[in-house]
Formats: sequence, structure tokens, C-alpha cells
Amino acid sequence: MKLLMVGAGLSGAVIGRQLAEAGHEITVIDGRRHIGGNCHTERDGETGVMVHVYGPHIFHTDDAEVWDYVNRFATFLPYRNRVKTTARGQVFSLPINLHTINQFYGKTLRPDEARAFIEAQADRSIADPQSFEEQALRFVGPDLYEAFFKGYTEKQWGCSPAELPASILKRLPVRFNYDDNYFFHRFQGMPEEGYTAMIARILDHPAIDVHLETFFDADRAGRYDHVFYSGPLDGYFGYRLGRLGYRTLDFERFTYQGDYQGCAVMNYGDRDVPYTRITEHKHFSPWESHEGSVCYREYSRAAGEGDIPYYPIRLVEEKVLLAEYEALAAGTEGVSFVGRLGTYRYLDMDVTIREALDVARGFLGRG
Ligand code: UDP
Repeated sequence: MKLLMVGAGLSGAVIGRQLAEAGHEITVIDGRRHIGGNCHTERDGETGVMVHVYGPHIFHTDDAEVWDYVNRFATFLPYRNRVKTTARGQVFSLPINLHTINQFYGKTLRPDEARAFIEAQADRSIADPQSFEEQALRFVGPDLYEAFFKGYTEKQWGCSPAELPASILKRLPVRFNYDDNYFFHRFQGMPEEGYTAMIARILDHPAIDVHLETFFDADRAGRYDHVFYSGPLDGYFGYRLGRLGYRTLDFERFTYQGDYQGCAVMNYGDRDVPYTRITEHKHFSPWESHEGSVCYREYSRAAGEGDIPYYPIRLVEEKVLLAEYEALAAGTEGVSFVGRLGTYRYLDMDVTIREALDVARGFLGRG
């Protein structure tokens, strides 16, 4: 069959590869000048540093099949994400761990003592936390919530944490030991030559044809037996019911001679610092050494028309609109909506790959 992948990010590349290997003829189109979607990495011309052009992407997973899959297409080198946060004039360790708790409260608690201490701060009247704020108050109490989560989240999402779902905070663990690994998955690493090189290898198959700076339109779709669409769901339907809300990011790039901040990611918890975090990209490739350094100050705001969509907002209003677009999508024959933008979900890379493998499998298995 002749199949079209709209989007050369992880979803389009993985689905395309799986279906090419199964004997189908694949065309991949992308409106951008590069493959890789928002995972795109590029060496900085001035410093030689591998830059995560659309913000930090750290590969972590518990899914052995996904880990094997990415290791087929790239050499993954050890990388542990150890995030710090600057708040109220001090630098703390994230995710909240025993070091954070002891430093914040000026104590020397052992694990069991810290657990009991934090439990005493927590609001136990919240039985089933629904919002981000309730989740935080239930599990860490008001002090840590206000120092580390409230301001950051208001900047990141542009609304009160009381309006956000608890699931966003559930991404972050609280630890009663000194483990400062940001993620708790079994597998974690960084592709040696960046994500774009990995995705180029996924797309490197004789039955796959890639066309960049090529936009999707319905005429084109008609020439294929099936379309896998990883662009924005509402965009496919010409935004006819309205626009699904996204947060977009502005990156303020600056360079530095030497080591600017000593870590890859420094968050800023205070509300009056306008950016959410600073990323220093050379620390994402700790096996390389560079004198020069490239940093991004990261600012979050509501995405307008023409801005790059990053984080789907998914508040009550968006959920209603999403359900309407999902109904339109379900009634669209010959098109599968895939990936972060195609399904309007906050997806990590490993989940995106897992779903892409499953979509390809499902397509091959249908009668
Ligand atoms: N978060 C926070 N303070 C921090 C880091 C994260 O309040 O210092 C909240 C924030 O709302 C964020 C969410 O936790 O959107 C998930 O954080 P994560 O680091 O997973 O975000 P990502 O790297 O995907 O932007």
C-alpha cells in the first residue's frame, strides 16, 4: 500500500519505519526544514555544542521494547537528569528528596523521620486529590508547594495550580532518600549524536521517501491508501470548531565561556523571575567537552496562531472541544491521528514510540 506520514517527528518516523519493513511504500512529509519534530537537535555553529533546539529532551523509559528499539538506531550514552531549582535565594535539589527537605527546613532528618515530618505537613483531609494544588498539599504540604511548585507552575501553565489536573504533578516523585535522579525509570540515556541523527536512521529505509518543507492538504491525502497524521488535531479540520489551547515556549539563547551553571537544568521557582528554567546544553552530552557554552532561558506563554505548540493545556474548556474534534477524527475514514499533536496529549518520547509501535502493529493486524 502507499501510505502517507504527516510529520517527520518520532511518531511519523517510527510508524513509517515499521510499515516500510512490512513491505509498504512510505512517504513522509514535514512542513519544517528538518526532521525530528520538537526532538530536533543540532550542533551549534559557534561552540560545537549539541543543542536541543526545542528545549530539553531526556530519554527515559521502563519499556524494554522501546529501549531496544531506540538502541537499534542510536548509541545511547549514560545521562542522569539531576535538576536543581533556585528558590528564595538558595539552590535546592529536585525532585524533592531528603536533601531538599533537610536543607529547606534546616534539619538533619533520617528517611523515616522525614516521612513522618512531611506527613505532618500534608493536608490529610484531601482524600482523593483532583487538582495539581490538592495533590501537592496532600503529599508535600504548603511550604514546599509554595517554594517549588506554585510559582513555577503559574509561570509554566499561565493559571492557578488549583485549575490544573493532579496528573501533571504526578510526573514528579517525592523521595525520602538522597536519590536526586529526576526520573525513576530503569533506562535513561542520551543519543550520542542527538535525536535528529537517530530519527534520520529510523527514516533511512529504501521504502521511505522524506519531503521537507512540504505541507499537508486534502488533495495530497487522496493519493494514498492511508494517512497517519501527527500534526495538530484541530489543524486537520481547519480549526473549524475553534482552537485547542497550547502553551508555547520562547527561548532566549545566550553563550558563555566555560561552565555557566554547572548543571543541565536549573529551574526557577520564584514567581518574580520571569523565566521557568535555564538549560545549559553541553551538560546534556557529558561525554563531550566544549569551552564555549550555549544556554536557553525558557519562557512559557499561551500559544497564538503561528506559534509552535508545545504543551496541550487540557483544562475543562479544552476537554469539551477535544471531545468534539475526537468525534470528527473518529468519523474520518483513512486517517489515523497519532502522537502528541494528533491526539492532543502531554506525551513523553518513550510513550510516543510505544504508541507508534502499537499503531503500526494494529494497522498491520487489521483484516
Ligand atoms: N514543576 C514545578 N516546579 C519545578 C518543576 C516542575 O512546579 O521545579 C511542575 C510544573 O507544573 C511542570 C510539572 O511539574 O509542568 C512537570 O514537570 P516536568 O519537569 O516533568 O516538566 P517538563 O520538563 O515536561 O516541562
